[in-house]
Amino acid sequence: MSKLQPVRGTHDIYGDDARRMRHVVETFARVASTYGFEELATPIFEFTEVFKRPLGEASDIVSKEMYSFRDRGDEELTLRPEFTAGVARAFISGGMQQSTPCRFMSWGPVFRYERPQKGRYRQFHQLNAECLGPSDPATDVDMIALGYRTLMELGVAGDVVLNLNTLGDPDSRNAYRSALVEYFSDHRDALSEDSQRRLLTNPLRILDSKIEGDQAIVVGAPKLSGYLNDQSRDFFRTVTNGLERAGVPFVHNERLVRGLDYYTHTAFEFITEILGAQGTVIGGGRYDGLIKKLGGPPVAGVGWAGGIERLAMMLAETPTAVRPVFFLPMGDAALLEGFKICEELRGAGITVIADRTGNISKRMNRANKASARAALILGDDELSAGTIMVKNLDSGDQQQISIDGLAKHLKAQG
Ligand code: ATP
Ligand code: MG
Repeated sequence: MSKLQPVRGTHDIYGDDARRMRHVVETFARVASTYGFEELATPIFEFTEVFKRPLGEASDIVSKEMYSFRDRGDEELTLRPEFTAGVARAFISGGMQQSTPCRFMSWGPVFRYERPQKGRYRQFHQLNAECLGPSDPATDVDMIALGYRTLMELGVAGDVVLNLNTLGDPDSRNAYRSALVEYFSDHRDALSEDSQRRLLTNPLRILDSKIEGDQAIVVGAPKLSGYLNDQSRDFFRTVTNGLERAGVPFVHNERLVRGLDYYTHTAFEFITEILGAQGTVIGGGRYDGLIKKLGGPPVAGVGWAGGIERLAMMLAETPTAVRPVFFLPMGDAALLEGFKICEELRGAGITVIADRTGNISKRMNRANKASARAALILGDDELSAGTIMVKNLDSGDQQQISIDGLAKHLKAQG
């Protein structure tokens, strides 16, 4: 029955995939903590306005990718298509402008109605980092360095190139926007239908078009660097100098624009060649106008989001699970006493799987299949002597160990 399949573009995550994704999240959380980030978990759904207002009706996300619905109380709600708007909403709701700078790390599922393919899903997962408050370019350097260090710790930095650009301040951006509209209007008929629409709504997005015909026209488009005012130029220079000093390699990519309306100044993407078409693993930038646009105070912000599935696919190896010890009680008395023994071992931090059914060879097979490091065999004789047989499954060595010293013995063995 097709209704028993997961919905198109969604997945059950388990086994190696789950382990890889967990490793990505844990690595990010550990690295971000070293930059002073605190966890912020916002709700998975928000009032639709929270996304519509900052992202803009014209954005791809709002115009065609959101999962929006009315709930039973007739509220217009949307499953989050990204984190930033919800984080900004939480900042406003919580009156956090008193406590800036706020450094927030988050992770979890994100929903977009897109055409599913490798590395592109309808429910996927993101890492997210935001710094709210500071408007100085040094903060942009820190945020990008956090992304780079996360990639280094994951062992994938060598396969990723940081593409960096500036969109300038609103004045520079508007001047550039006019120049782009003029240029693309002259080539209107050759543009794709999507890009013709963007010409009216969001002309910068045409630069981002993945369609070949559009790209040919984009090559001749005016460059943003010609429209930057002095402040915007200085801002960008401080960012590039800082990145060089921090040891974060980058390329200046003048074609890089972020798909969302609220970006100013710094825009960046970490891009890899090894995932095929879906090569952007982290994207972000500065969004000084966002919180105001959402109805809050004029507070600056800079942040990024990373695709957990894409990062997980890049890992060279699947992180290995902890090797358990198998507890094999023989007989009723051992089974009962085993509850106490196993609890004590787990309390000492040892991973124990109690395998209580079937004959001994079946149980040993299961222990080997689970890559157990040891089997603990407890029979009536051992029980009355206060000992347990510990079989090292790598070496095959067997030893009688006193039950009192069992946790210590297993810990010493690794
Ligand atoms: P793309 O250009 O690939 O559509 P985007 O600009 O829409 O990316 P962002 O909104 O910046 O992406 O999201 C941040 C990151 O989330 C991306 O760099 C990517 O790694 C990941 N991502 C975005 N959309 C998807 C998706 N549909 N499925 C899986 N991962 C995604
Ligand atoms: Mg997208």
